[in-house]
Amino acid sequence: MQLRFIGSGDAFGSGGRLNTCFQVTGEEVNFLIDCGASSLIGLKKEKISLNDIQAIFLTHFHADHFGGLPFFLLEAQFFSKRNQPLVIVGPPGLAQWHERFMETFFPGSSKTKPKFALSFIELKPREQADVAGVKVRAFQALHGDSGGPFFSYRLEAENRTLAYTGDTEWTDELFEAASQSDLFIAEAYFFEKKIKLHLDLATLTEKLPLIQSKRLILTHMSEDMLDRLNTLIFETAYDGKIVEF
Ligand SMILES: [Zn+2]
Ligand SMILES: [Zn+2]
Repeated sequence: MQLRFIGSGDAFGSGGRLNTCFQVTGEEVNFLIDCGASSLIGLKKEKISLNDIQAIFLTHFHADHFGGLPFFLLEAQFFSKRNQPLVIVGPPGLAQWHERFMETFFPGSSKTKPKFALSFIELKPREQADVAGVKVRAFQALHGDSGGPFFSYRLEAENRTLAYTGDTEWTDELFEAASQSDLFIAEAYFFEKKIKLHLDLATLTEKLPLIQSKRLILTHMSEDMLDRLNTLIFETAYDGKIVEF
């Protein structure tokens, strides 16, 4: 199984990195985790075959995690001439968000009927579903008072388990989401500064012994973390990085 960091940045362009988007491919599966505003640029830069992507798992409705979707969907319609189905998975309210953001980004576009089968699956926290060969389970992240629920994901496919924190301050839900995973991608927004809504590396480090993931990669780093990259003992993401797991 392979994971490619299309975008490993935060919402504010720290380090010149693209917004969050990871592509996961296996023998059968091919999906994205998050589709931040700059994702289509990143996908094209990496020469990804867009029509082969079967599903997109969205952690939350912040633009650096889902804002690339209108571009992706219209590109699929008019340029890639997609004819394969696409499933989008996300928190409750996903279908309404879709209509709202299509209309905001490209007025009139919400009325355009896609030429491919486009479906939405709204998960509740702790709910599990089988989507495009992936067993997905959503966990409630702590990432704000409005616009939620926000998700962390545990994704299982082809005998591999992948966990992603999404954006969140520490929550014990992450123990279950990431426990014994083959690959754990964790937000590390700050090095040790504790703030609301986001995770810092010092807190994450404290919890790691109880998670026992085989491999940890840090992402969504602010300048505070990026300035320390050379001194960190942990593996970190960068745009274009490819991971076999
Ligand atoms: Zn974010
Ligand atoms: Zn966010």
